[in-house]
Amino acid sequence: MKFCKFCGVKLEDNAVFCSRCGKQLEEEVVINSVGINQTNATCEKSSKSKIAAGLLQIFLGGLGIGRFYTGHTDIAVAQLVVSIVTCGIAGSIWGLIDGIVILTTKDFKDADGKIME
Ligand SMILES: [Zn+2]
Repeated sequence: MKFCKFCGVKLEDNAVFCSRCGKQLEEEVVINSVGINQTNATCEKSSKSKIAAGLLQIFLGGLGIGRFYTGHTDIAVAQLVVSIVTCGIAGSIWGLIDGIVILTTKDFKDADGKIME
């Protein structure tokens, strides 16, 4: 058993590529569990799609759907409340802008701090 230097996932001894982050493993990449803590946070990637989140926000942002998807439920609930209070007008505009922000932000992160692609 060895560990990926980039994300710390456990891998088979004969693994050439990390099954989680996809980076190529080199001989010196084989590290013990002590080393993982120093290199762990570099390649945490979200399983969620930034494109999907952005489009959901653009079209359904008034309901906070895209933000529910990314796990930002506090923002999503706020958008929902604003939509209800303003009969959908301000919430929809917020959702549209929020969706564009999600799509154009480099390394946009979900609620777990993982980068979405
Ligand atoms: Zn990895």
